[in-house]
Amino acid sequence: MTILHDMECKIVYRCECNEKEYPSSTSLKAHQKTKGHMNWENKKELRDLKKCLTERDNEIVSLKLRVERLKELNTTLILRMKEDI
Ligand SMILES: [Zn+2]
Repeated sequence: MTILHDMECKIVYRCECNEKEYPSSTSLKAHQKTKGHMNWENKKELRDLKKCLTERDNEIVSLKLRVERLKELNTTLILRMKEDI
């Protein structure tokens, strides 16, 4: 019985925009200068920015809620202190 094992390890130059493989880093770089790739990169950047913005918005909302809760707690504590005096 012969076990064939492919131990070949090769570097794959693949671009995220089209999942295509390129034979060398030079041809990958050449592709990355094309309009199609540039458009994809710009869109990706915009998507990432929008995602970031949404995350920030959510963070702001949750921080505002926390501030409100702390204000309430503060008021409660002040009232209790007054009661004690
Ligand atoms: Zn690309």
